Amino acid sequence: MLKINKIFLYDEPTVPEIKIEKLKKFIIDTFSVKVEIRRNFFESLDTNIFEEIARTRIFDLKKPFQKHIPTSKEVDFEKENRNNTQQEEMVLYDGFKIQEIISKEISKNERGIDSLHIIFTNKLTCTFDNNDSRYHARAIINSNPTIISTSGIVEAPAKPKGYYIELMTDFSKDRINEIKEKYKEEFIEYHDSKTSQVVEGYLLQSIMYNETGDAFCEDKKCRLFNAHWQKDLIYTQLKERKFCQKHLDVIEKLSVNSKLS
Ligand SMILES: [Zn+2]
Repeated sequence: MLKINKIFLYDEPTVPEIKIEKLKKFIIDTFSVKVEIRRNFFESLDTNIFEEIARTRIFDLKKPFQKHIPTSKEVDFEKENRNNTQQEEMVLYDGFKIQEIISKEISKNERGIDSLHIIFTNKLTCTFDNNDSRYHARAIINSNPTIISTSGIVEAPAKPKGYYIELMTDFSKDRINEIKEKYKEEFIEYHDSKTSQVVEGYLLQSIMYNETGDAFCEDKKCRLFNAHWQKDLIYTQLKERKFCQKHLDVIEKLSVNSKLS
């Protein structure tokens, strides 16, 4: 039986490819738990909260988090929640700091362990890794609330080595598009039709983390495998779409006697 009684999914309307209704059905079919879809988490916040979010921007990947003093333009940028697909205006945020802000904004009566909040955002969330002393893009910031970053899905798992090598040898615009076309089945792009299925894997990780304290699997063929490469992400979530025996058993146990039935 699940500890979670209800899952709240907060939409990211600038990325319709997540297909939130489909995701709701996927969770219900897998875990028989109640799911409620909500509007974008960031759309109705107070101005001072937008300012707090703008403070979590990162400018130097090699330095641990330092509170940024935002300009009014940067605060306005948060209000607009623009489509974050233009590489040249890609904004980076500290994922844990945003998670703290979201946490405080969730109403007190929905903060219990029986409610899991999953926030979709186009913001590119990053976390600082003490092992190599730099920030890395993240597709998911686990725990409750969980953040799933649609930009992180594109930017965090590495693209094929050949793709980078070919790009390094030729910078012309036509050639870049050609290279992208050549590798397009091997990674997730912005507004990719494959997004929704890949997101399913991150939803599974979020639910498993909150239920068992462990989000990931070592088995490269399991949907809970922590993919560091785009090809592993596509293999586990689009081609194989299966669980290892251990996780199949865990999910079966979690789904029975659910409070929904
Ligand atoms: Zn597994």
